[in-house]
Amino acid sequence: MEFELWYLIAVPILFAAGWWLRGVDFKQHKKATEGIDEHYAKGLSLLLSDDPVKADKAIDLFIEVVRLDPETIELHHALGNLFRRRGQFDRAIRLHSFLVNRAELPEKERALAMAELALDYLKSGMYDRAESAYEQLAGFKGREVEALEALMHIYCTEREWKKAVETAERLQKSGKDLHVEISHYYCELANLARCTKDAARASEFVTSALKANPDNPRALSLAADLALDAGKPQDALAAWGQIEKAKPAYAPLIAAKKADVMAETDKAAAMKYLKDVFAQSGSVDVLTAAVARMSVWADAPTAAAFAGEALKNRPSLSAFSVLCNLRAKADPDDEQAKLLAEVTTKQSKHFARYQCTHCGFLAHTFAWQCPGCERWDSFPPLRVDEAKKASYH
Ligand SMILES: [Zn+2]
Repeated sequence: MEFELWYLIAVPILFAAGWWLRGVDFKQHKKATEGIDEHYAKGLSLLLSDDPVKADKAIDLFIEVVRLDPETIELHHALGNLFRRRGQFDRAIRLHSFLVNRAELPEKERALAMAELALDYLKSGMYDRAESAYEQLAGFKGREVEALEALMHIYCTEREWKKAVETAERLQKSGKDLHVEISHYYCELANLARCTKDAARASEFVTSALKANPDNPRALSLAADLALDAGKPQDALAAWGQIEKAKPAYAPLIAAKKADVMAETDKAAAMKYLKDVFAQSGSVDVLTAAVARMSVWADAPTAAAFAGEALKNRPSLSAFSVLCNLRAKADPDDEQAKLLAEVTTKQSKHFARYQCTHCGFLAHTFAWQCPGCERWDSFPPLRVDEAKKASYH
């Protein structure tokens, strides 16, 4: 706040200083700039006033100044930015719109004003206008990449995935590699289509996602889900097999689903598969899934023996919690076992979280895009306490 107050005073002073220091050329400009100093003086006093009506009047006067003398444009940009920083978006927009529409200004200056105007709209939450402003900015020489990057960010925020794909493809033409992002945008579209039971569209989007990034485990996982929806378990198994081959670290994410399909024909093979995935990854999610299924597919003692062995080989609070829950379930009247299960479950959830490798954001559930830094594929598919022990690394 103190800095902004300082800025409020400094900008008009610099504004005035910039004008007065150019006094050498004053005679040459005298006729064209007649009345500017008067506008400045009035504008400054009005701007420093707390009255919003007077501050609006100040903008009119400063606009008049730039109309008379385009060389003061840098100071106008500083003033526009000050308005935006103070949350006075309508004033910033008015000033920047005026500069954008001054046809006599050099293209470079109008492009800068357009970028500022787009930012005004973005910061004030007027996304439609921000989109339009960035589209116009993309038409200015040398500003296309920054405009398209900003548009891509807006479309992702608004979950306008088709537009995000189109924009990313335009950006790729400038040499940027966005195949990871494009593949995820298609996955988002496939998810939406699957939610509306449009399997054909969902399948098309998954194909496009895999075309952009053939090893995307998310797209392969979606292909498996669609195959299951269509009653084609063999196709689902093939898609999961591709994940295990191309991206083995992601196996824990699909292990439970795959085991369920395997168990329809061979329960022993399904249990062995879960044991193998756990042995490689140490994923407690896989351990939990394995123990729950073993209790049904085999019996409770088999599940308990596996949980005990898992805790011995890979000691962790999470594995201990799985064992405690199993004991509590086996004897519902044992209050101590129940309490121990509750406490260890709560504590292990606190430690077992996924972490973004880019910004360090911690999440309880796995996500393909980090909610903190918005990067794709920045969460490793193992929880923090498991990742150090996994045999993939
Ligand atoms: Zn992040």
